[in-house]
Amino acid sequence: MTINLAEVAKEKSIKYFLISYTDLFGSQRAKLVPASAITGMQKSGAGFAGFATWLDMSPADPDLFARPDPESLIQLPWKPDVGWLAADLWMDGKPVEQGPRNALKKQIAIAAEQGMQMKTGVECEFFLISPDGTGIADTADTQIKPCYDQQALMRRYDVITEICDSMLQLGWQPYQNDHEDANGQFEMNWNFDDALVTADRHVFFKYMAKAIAEKHGLRATFMPKPFVHLTGTGCHMHVSMWKGRDNCFEDGNAPYGLSQTGLHFIGGIINSADALAAILNPTVNSYKRINAPRTVSGATWAPNSVTWTGNNRTHMVRVPDGDRFELRLADGAVNPYLMPASVLAAGLDGLKNARDPGPRLDINMYTEGHTVVDVKKLPLNLLDALRALENSTVLHDAMGSLVPSYLKLKHIELNDFARHLTQWERDTTLDC
Ligand SMILES: [Mg+2]
Repeated sequence: MTINLAEVAKEKSIKYFLISYTDLFGSQRAKLVPASAITGMQKSGAGFAGFATWLDMSPADPDLFARPDPESLIQLPWKPDVGWLAADLWMDGKPVEQGPRNALKKQIAIAAEQGMQMKTGVECEFFLISPDGTGIADTADTQIKPCYDQQALMRRYDVITEICDSMLQLGWQPYQNDHEDANGQFEMNWNFDDALVTADRHVFFKYMAKAIAEKHGLRATFMPKPFVHLTGTGCHMHVSMWKGRDNCFEDGNAPYGLSQTGLHFIGGIINSADALAAILNPTVNSYKRINAPRTVSGATWAPNSVTWTGNNRTHMVRVPDGDRFELRLADGAVNPYLMPASVLAAGLDGLKNARDPGPRLDINMYTEGHTVVDVKKLPLNLLDALRALENSTVLHDAMGSLVPSYLKLKHIELNDFARHLTQWERDTTLDC
C-alpha cells in the first residue's frame, strides 16, 4: 500500500518535508515543503530548474520534478519537525537517465531480472575541522599514529554520540565509531543493507554529520585529501550479491571461500577499474589520496594498483571473508548513488562475460608492489580517469546518457581547475 505522507506528517508531528535529490557531483538539492502541501508534491514532485544544478541540462528545458520516495522518509533526529525524503528525477513524464538515484535503480532492476540483489555497506570517514576550513579543530590531536586514539575520540564524544544516537534512533544498527588514521579524522559504521537503502543512508549521513558538526561549532568534511601529509578520506564499500536468502559469493568448498560468481563479479570490477575511478574518485583532489606517497602515520591505506587479495588492506579489492569483498577505491567525495550504480554495472558485466580477476596477490603492495609486472595502475589524475571512462563501453552501455553528461560536466570542472595559477608553479618556474 502506498504510504500517505500527509497522514504520516500528522502521526509524527512533521511540519515540513525536505524533498531532496542528489545531482551528478553529489550535491544535495532540496525544497522545504510545508506538510499542508505534501499531497500534491507526493503525486507530481517538487519542481526545479535542472540547469541550476549539476545535471547537464539547459535553461530552456522544462521543469525538472523531484518525486519523493515515501519509503526513504527520515525524521531528522535533531530537528523532528522536518522529514527528509530522497527523490527521483522526472522530466516530460519520464525518469531522467542522468539522475544518480534513477541510475542506481536502473542497475538494481537489471540485477533483479537475473534474480539478484546487491547488498552494500559503506565505511564513512570524515574530518572534524575548524569552521573556516583551515585546520583540524582539535589542536591537541597531534599524535603521529593517531588511529584509535582514545583521548582524541573522547574529546569529540558529544558530536560523535549525537550522530550515533541518531543512527540508533533511525534503526540503522550502528556498531562502532573510532578515531581514524589522520589527526582530526573519524569513522562511523552501521550495518549493511540493500544497495538503495544504503545509498539513501549514505547521502543522509553526509548531511547529518555536517549538520550536527555545525551545531557543535565544528565543520565535517569528506574531502578526499584535505591535508597533504595525513591519510586521506576513503569510502570503503563492502559488496555482496544475493538470491533471496542465499549469498551468491559464498562457497565454503571453493578456494578463499569465494564462489565463481564472486570471482567473476570481482573480475568485472578489475576490468573496469580505471573507468570506475572517474566516478569513485571524482575530484581533482581525489588523486592526492590514491597513488599517494607514505603519510606521517606510515601508510596511506589507499590503493595504487588494480589488484585483489585476501585479508590485506594494501590492495584495491580485499576479500576478508568469502561472503563479500571490500572495494577500497572510492573516497569521501564519491556520489553515494553513482558508486553502487557503477560498481553493480561493472560487476554484472563481469558475470555476463565470466571475467577473470587474475591471480590473487598476497603481498604488501606498498612495499612489494614494484615486484609484480603486468599489473594495471590506477589513473594518476582526474583527466586520465575521465579518458578511461570515455573509453569504457561497459559503463557507456550500462548507464546510457549519464556517462556523456557526467564527462561533459567533469571536463568543464577540470578546465576550471586548469585555469588556476598555483603557488607551486610560481615557486618552480619564475626563474626558468
Ligand atoms: Mg577507515
